[in-house]
Amino acid sequence: MTPPEQTALPDARAEFLPEIEVRRSERRHRTVSARLKDGKLVLYLPASMSQAEEARWVETMTKRFKARSLRRTLNSDGELQRRTAELNRLYFNGRLRWSSLQYVTNQNMRYGSCSPREGTIRISSALAEMPRWVRDYVLVHELAHLVEANHSPAFWTLVNRYPLTERARGYLIAKGLEEEG
Ligand SMILES: [Zn+2]
Repeated sequence: MTPPEQTALPDARAEFLPEIEVRRSERRHRTVSARLKDGKLVLYLPASMSQAEEARWVETMTKRFKARSLRRTLNSDGELQRRTAELNRLYFNGRLRWSSLQYVTNQNMRYGSCSPREGTIRISSALAEMPRWVRDYVLVHELAHLVEANHSPAFWTLVNRYPLTERARGYLIAKGLEEEG
């Protein structure tokens, strides 16, 4: 029996994971999987795995599930979409279109990214905890990439219509987040 690797968290707003239960299986040799069961995160490990490896997996899976929980919480209320639509109206005459826009938890150093061709925008979950005007700058920055893929002078002309651009850039540099994206 191989349990599915991912199951829906019962409560998307749960910030912390429930307790973790480790189950060892003689039949497992390499595979590791985890699922939520009765409010617990059950981790299935091979019987032969060392305690150190077990500890590493518990940490990895905990992080993974926490990140997923955070991502779902942040993306669940539509607030990011609403604010971005507003910024589109304010700074781009409402003419920009994108196919997806969401918070992600796997961009530790980059504050955001945009693939103009696919029309996808990703915003670091770290931005959710920063001042609104900083996140607004990042949203304007990524929106501008839908028009200008590179950091060209034309790109900065677009971005600089947002009046707090310089302050926000300074703020992000101080936080150690990278510009590129
Ligand atoms: Zn950029």
